[in-house]
Amino acid sequence: MEKAWSILPDEWKPILAGRGMRTFRADQILHALYRDRITCWDQATTLPKDFREQLKAEFPLTGARILDTSESSDGTRKLLVGFEDGCSVETVLIPATGRFTQCVSTQVGCAMGCVFCASGSQGVVRSLSADEIVAQYMLGRTFGEITNIVVMGMGEPFANYDETMRALKLINSGKGPNLGARHITISTCGVVPGFARLAAEGVQFELSVSLHAPNDRLRGELMPVNRKWPLAELLDACAAYTRATKRIITFEYTLIAGVNDSRECAEELARAVKRVPMAKVNLIPLSPVSHRPDFKTPDDATLLAFLDVLMKNRVQTMLRRSRGKDTDAACGQLRLRNAPKT
Ligand code: SAH
Repeated sequence: MEKAWSILPDEWKPILAGRGMRTFRADQILHALYRDRITCWDQATTLPKDFREQLKAEFPLTGARILDTSESSDGTRKLLVGFEDGCSVETVLIPATGRFTQCVSTQVGCAMGCVFCASGSQGVVRSLSADEIVAQYMLGRTFGEITNIVVMGMGEPFANYDETMRALKLINSGKGPNLGARHITISTCGVVPGFARLAAEGVQFELSVSLHAPNDRLRGELMPVNRKWPLAELLDACAAYTRATKRIITFEYTLIAGVNDSRECAEELARAVKRVPMAKVNLIPLSPVSHRPDFKTPDDATLLAFLDVLMKNRVQTMLRRSRGKDTDAACGQLRLRNAPKT
């Protein structure tokens, strides 16, 4: 049984035809799903009742539900989304002037084990289906129209490539929710095979790469993925991607006091980033996580000194602030937890 929210708009006609169903219903189905935003087939009143029953049986709507919500003092809202098998993930809604960004998850937990990240601290349970990724968005948009999606929640998108790409293509589709590709950002910790695959898709999604360290020794300590795909391989893959797609890559660099925030690290980072055409850098001060109390956020003077070195080296750099800290909704704080008993 395919879930309705995992079927790309262009697939409906051939799927209906393959089951001997009338193909002109495809447009009515899409209208019901993505214009009327039905949450159960009974709401699709433009469709005949017996057809609705057939849809219910063959293409059920998602079983995903919002189990819990919490709001930060800065207006950031975190949703706990539960699935049919009892697993759950978190997704975060971040309002800003003229924007309403949603951070979505692609896996329950994460296998990557970056030492500063809460999502990876308990390993991965399973990957999400396209339906479960789309469901986060469809549930999220009931709180306001989403203008941007960042795939920066729990999980590694390139470790769940097919389902993530299917979900993003669906959300991007003109016959679906029609969210612009350039408003959708995928973030990877550096799973190298994903770069060539994404370049070959011919899609316009934005790509961020979590770098966090400018050399193999340090990166290997912070991010186990670096032992599989070391920096040179990662930077080559990034360079090939920007050349093939003519699209920029944004390097994310989380600054941890006394770990990767020295002037030498900044100089080394500038050199590394220059190996990739059309690259820019986002500096993000660490959001403290409970499992690593030894990791601290650098003070402002250190952040600014780091920024200054990159600017002097003519690396296009932004210093970001993380949102949602007081409800553990900030970068790297999303954590696997059990659904509350209701
Ligand atoms: N797996 C993907 C996406 C999820 S994390 C990736 O690694 O890119 C989204 C971003 O938050 C990544 O850049 C990640 O390294 C960063 N992050 C993780 N823990 C953090 C923390 N405690 N403080 C700040 N950023 C963190």
